[in-house]
Amino acid sequence: MAKGDIVGHKPPLRVLETTIREGRIPHALLFEGPEGIGKKKVALWFIEALNCRRAPGEGCGSCEQCERIQRLSHPDLHLLTLEGESIRIEQIREATNILRFRPLEGRWKALVVEDAERMTPEASNAFLKTLEEPTPWTLIILIAQSADALLPTVRSRCQRIRFFPLKEGEVREVLERLGVQAPPSALRWGSPGKAIRMLQEDFEALLLKAKEGGLSGIFDLGEELGRDRERAIGFLQFLLQECRRKLEENSLGFDKFWRLLHIYRCLEEYANARLCVEAALLEMLHL
Ligand SMILES: [Zn+2]
Repeated sequence: MAKGDIVGHKPPLRVLETTIREGRIPHALLFEGPEGIGKKKVALWFIEALNCRRAPGEGCGSCEQCERIQRLSHPDLHLLTLEGESIRIEQIREATNILRFRPLEGRWKALVVEDAERMTPEASNAFLKTLEEPTPWTLIILIAQSADALLPTVRSRCQRIRFFPLKEGEVREVLERLGVQAPPSALRWGSPGKAIRMLQEDFEALLLKAKEGGLSGIFDLGEELGRDRERAIGFLQFLLQECRRKLEENSLGFDKFWRLLHIYRCLEEYANARLCVEAALLEMLHL
């Protein structure tokens, strides 16, 4: 992936380019920002830029080094992801052990840790020694939604780079490049990853489950979606679409539609997500 393939994120890219230009690559970076906005993409580009022989410092995106980094099959790149709910101490031990050995091909041996805030305290502590005394070829990139969720001892040993949600036009551009058709409402999160997740979420199944569960089904779903405001908004958007369809079929009154729209607007205005979901379900399911 060439740098031009990254949409948005100009400030973080500038910081990273400066470290390359000045030859002061930090051993540990912490990429912090919302999910699904492209932090991992930038991390892989940075590793490409450091390893690419055709366009050193920039990454051509198409040579053998760059392509293997993209495919995550480069021998000097190790990616750590969640196994179940957390990143465990065994995973960190294995990864830090790999970092002890010299790179096979390039100057750097890179470890990228996704969802770094999900490292268990034991895993974080096992990481400290590597962060404190990195080998000269160690490059660690921690990716997290919130740096505050990391142990202060880990956080303080990394150079923090903040990422922000993309602009709506940028989300549209990313989705178009991926061939994903998305309604305008999906652009609002500033996150292509989240937009895709919302498009794929089976809200119909959730609605059916709530319907079958009666009142307790409604309260259970209210509790579940109440924990994730954005999912709650996605769900209400789905309910509104359902309502609109029923309106067109003349199987639903306007009053119900307006009440649902009102609940949706309250939710957008930061009303309690759980209560809004419950109220909307009570409207929809005629209880
Ligand atoms: Zn290249």
